[in-house]
Amino acid sequence: MTAPDFSKGCAWQRGEYVPIGQASVPLTDWGFLRSDATYDVVTVWEGAFFRLDAHMERFLRSCQRFRLDPGRSPQAIVEILSECVRRAGLRASYVEMVVTRGQPPWGSRDPRQAVNQFYAFAVPYVWIANEEQRRRGLHVAVSDVQRIPPASVDPKAKNYHWNDLTMGLLGALDAGADTVLLSDAAGNVVEGPGFNIFAVRAGRLVTPAEGVLEGVTRRTVIEMAATLSLPVEERALPAAELRMADEAFLSTSGGGVLPVTRVDGQVIGSGVPGPITQRLVDTYWAWHQDPRYSTPIVY
Ligand code: PLP
Repeated sequence: MTAPDFSKGCAWQRGEYVPIGQASVPLTDWGFLRSDATYDVVTVWEGAFFRLDAHMERFLRSCQRFRLDPGRSPQAIVEILSECVRRAGLRASYVEMVVTRGQPPWGSRDPRQAVNQFYAFAVPYVWIANEEQRRRGLHVAVSDVQRIPPASVDPKAKNYHWNDLTMGLLGALDAGADTVLLSDAAGNVVEGPGFNIFAVRAGRLVTPAEGVLEGVTRRTVIEMAATLSLPVEERALPAAELRMADEAFLSTSGGGVLPVTRVDGQVIGSGVPGPITQRLVDTYWAWHQDPRYSTPIVY
């Protein structure tokens, strides 16, 4: 028998490590049939997890909010994540942990009877924006599709209720933009597929407070801003205010701080990534070397 090939990534499922291409979820798992799951994504950069504790905290909080049980201790989860990265031999990785509802016994529709299932995988680092987009800044469209309201699906628990984000993204791509931002019923922008949004005006940062996932990168930006003496306002951000901003950027584990230079075709600031955004980009990557945020993996 030949040894498994983990070169494209490694997953943990049903008690074993398998090459990413062979990983699967049973068809009848409610995680698949009903998007009934929660997850988190932590990154590995230069052989170390970035802000592992913050991701673990959020993952466990998401599990509680959705009444899902990962079925193992945080230490056991970290060991599985580390082993996925190790087997894949990745120094820069996108590492996802998932709990699905599983399935109740046949005939039952009671979610309390389902046996929740834990999955994990490590694949090469994922960038939400390619190199050219990172250099010139992203062109973002504000969609007519409204983000699912927080009273329906709790956005602070990380979830796969992405149909609004996906339909919005398809519309934005068709219109020639790079990505999309969704708004709430009042016309305030909230978030996009895999990222939070910040506007910068007169040296102050504004980021939506409600209707969003509390991104670990968003939190990192807020903490970096404090050390750089940049005031931050966490409040509603009307789309019109975003279009008038001096600078704008996305925050995401899929690339950190990503400049935005156009919203709905309109140029933001001077049309190139702004100086405050650039300082935050530099600080974000510098913080990866800080032992307070970095958990090295023993390969
Ligand atoms: N908002 C949504 C809907 C997301 O899915 C994500 C990440 O995947 C984010 C925001 C950004 O969160 P983080 O900075 O923790 O990656």
